[in-house]
Amino acid sequence: MRPTEDKHRHQGLRKKLVEQLSSNGISNDLVLAAIAQIPRHFFLDSAFDDIAYENRAFPIGEGQTISHPYTVAYQTQLLDVKRFEKVLEVGTGSAYQAVVLAMLGVQVFTIERQRKLYDSNKQFKWLQQQHGIKFFYGDGFEGLPTFAPFDKILITAAAPHIPPKLVAQLKIGGMMVLPVGEGGTQQMCRVTRKENNELSVERFEEFSFVPMLTGKES
Ligand code: SAH
Repeated sequence: MRPTEDKHRHQGLRKKLVEQLSSNGISNDLVLAAIAQIPRHFFLDSAFDDIAYENRAFPIGEGQTISHPYTVAYQTQLLDVKRFEKVLEVGTGSAYQAVVLAMLGVQVFTIERQRKLYDSNKQFKWLQQQHGIKFFYGDGFEGLPTFAPFDKILITAAAPHIPPKLVAQLKIGGMMVLPVGEGGTQQMCRVTRKENNELSVERFEEFSFVPMLTGKES
């Protein structure tokens, strides 16, 4: 069961989490404000109610996880979104990251390859009341050509390489943030699409994500 009540206790725990993220180097005030507002415990089973605001990942079913708050904050900060931008997220999972992006005033297009997670988000009432998020069931390696080009793309699963079809769906000057690597850890990368199909790649900290897999799971 999902909890539906946001109590003072939860708000207090969120405030502490935000202080922790800030002391760990997250400096974007808009990102911190979004995290302070979003009831992360709504995205988890009520069994996790007391620990939902610890800086850790949790199972969300189908062998998948909701990312660490630090990871969500880190990726969002690197993506440097501006209001009204079009953002593609690969790996909806719990949809927590999608809500963080929506709170920043962007149009979110989020895609998930696990049918059960996609369906469970459709039944999540609070989530369906949030504005600015469109949900898709499909393979993120293919992106969403119908809705391209995007200002920004965020991949929240470990990519074996920079997916070429996603680069093609970025605007010139657009950026993609993704963890790249096939081992236990991956390096966070930020790719900027330049003119003439050139890319510039900046490299950041190491993280550990679940793998980005091809095809759909029914
Ligand atoms: N953004 C999520 C993180 C979920 S973990 C959150 O905030 O909770 C990564 C998710 O990526 C998993 O749900 C997994 O099923 C999904 N995924 C992996 N490969 C994918 C692909 N090729 N296309 C779409 N989703 C994918």
